[in-house]
Amino acid sequence: MGNGCSGEATPDPSPKRRRYSIIRNRAPSVTSAELRKEIMKTELEQAKAREKLSDDMRKEFERERAKLQQDIHREMVAEREKMKKASIIQENDGKAQIDQYGERIKNQRIDWSKPESKKIQVVVRSRPLNIREIKEEAKDVLYMDEINNECTILTPPSSGQSSSARKSVTFVFDRCYNGNTTTAQIYNEIPYSLVQSFLEGYNSTILAYGQTGSGKSFTMQEDPDHIGIIPRAIVHIFEGKESDEDQDTQYDIRVSYIEIYNEEIRDLLSADPTQKLEIKGEKVEGLTIHPVESIASCAHFMRLGLANRVTSATTMNAHSSRSHAIFTVYMRVVYTDPVGHEHHRKAKLNLVDLAGSERHGKVGISTNSGPSFNESKKINLSLSTLGKCIQALSQNNIGHVPYRESKLTRLLQDSLGGNARTMMIACLSPAETNFEETMSTLKYAHTTKSVNNRPVMNVDSDPKDQLIRQLQTEIKTLRNRLNTKDLDG
Ligand code: ADP
Ligand code: MG
Repeated sequence: MGNGCSGEATPDPSPKRRRYSIIRNRAPSVTSAELRKEIMKTELEQAKAREKLSDDMRKEFERERAKLQQDIHREMVAEREKMKKASIIQENDGKAQIDQYGERIKNQRIDWSKPESKKIQVVVRSRPLNIREIKEEAKDVLYMDEINNECTILTPPSSGQSSSARKSVTFVFDRCYNGNTTTAQIYNEIPYSLVQSFLEGYNSTILAYGQTGSGKSFTMQEDPDHIGIIPRAIVHIFEGKESDEDQDTQYDIRVSYIEIYNEEIRDLLSADPTQKLEIKGEKVEGLTIHPVESIASCAHFMRLGLANRVTSATTMNAHSSRSHAIFTVYMRVVYTDPVGHEHHRKAKLNLVDLAGSERHGKVGISTNSGPSFNESKKINLSLSTLGKCIQALSQNNIGHVPYRESKLTRLLQDSLGGNARTMMIACLSPAETNFEETMSTLKYAHTTKSVNNRPVMNVDSDPKDQLIRQLQTEIKTLRNRLNTKDLDG
């Protein structure tokens, strides 16, 4: 290599010497050092400005929060006075509000900040007697006390016992609903609170559990005459998105729908829903996740998945499904603050319609051979493992939790004792002929009540960012409450 000046060929220096010569020949780098200093100075100034702006924003939010809280308090006092004058409200030891006929008139939502709200919330719902049961003159053995949230089941008479001497067992749950309670009323209590907390960035799960024909799909799905929890949640999510989204806050909502049938996972939204998928790590490999922009596009995927779901007739309910179906909504939100800094939050909502929890004999499945027996064994594997996990998690000293023993519990690991807020809706048949299954569901649901979860808000880890985000959400909620006059929250 020549030096390009003398035209004389100089010997090529060794790589080490060549490096030194480059350094020696280079012009003194005063400019770049100064430039670096200048950049560092600007960055420092920007950081200071951001810090100050964060403080200003926090103070501003706190001022606004105090003002909104005052407004709400003032309106609340005025509203109470108005209602007292109309004398339609009595306070029931400060918990439920009931009217003069003893009916509950106020939605009972959840205060998630209470320590007991970390537990899985368990509600029971009884359906009315169906036409077959009425024809068979089946007795209704369930009594739901909706005010005190107690469910009482009458045990069958022992031989020779008079009916007045029959025993009963009472269970207490987070909510109890009888056959006349509508899904809209149920949704407005715990599911509403849960979807609201999903929008705030908490993973959330709703599980419908119960024997075939007890009302799981009725409660969760959509049919031409009835709107279940999944379609209601979809509307709620998009309403929440629309009221929060602006030029600084962008939402990304996606959905997936899987089915576990015979311990095999299928993607109900893929081009080939018969293809089996495997779990790799925490994810289902090859699962299609679809962006949804509106209630309509989200409902389209919900309906497509439902149509693809494997159903098989049983003697109890011709349309009953023997598969577990998990409809999942994924949310990612990016909020860009006035200095251009991005704050992220994300959450996942699992809406689960489980297969029937009954034992084999009852649904007419052969108990000794053939594919039906294998199918039933495998359906029970996921449900019995779910039971084992719940049992293990309900103990004071939690030992080994067998999540890995079934596909369902692997996929729902977070929802059971992990980073999620979870509720179970245990569906019940009120007929005496279903006493054993109803009793077993009640016991299962009662054990589930003792499971503690560890939910955390899935937002950026910087505590200052979190505080700002929290205040911002709180302000929006307070403002909405004031606008809709939802004064008790
Ligand atoms: P599952 O999914 O638990 O097998 P379904 O949801 O299919 O049971 O319910 C079985 C039948 O009972 C359906 O015809 C459904 O319409 C009816 N049903 C269930 N729950 C209710 C309810 N709360 N009110 C009225 N009908 C109900
Ligand atoms: Mg069903």
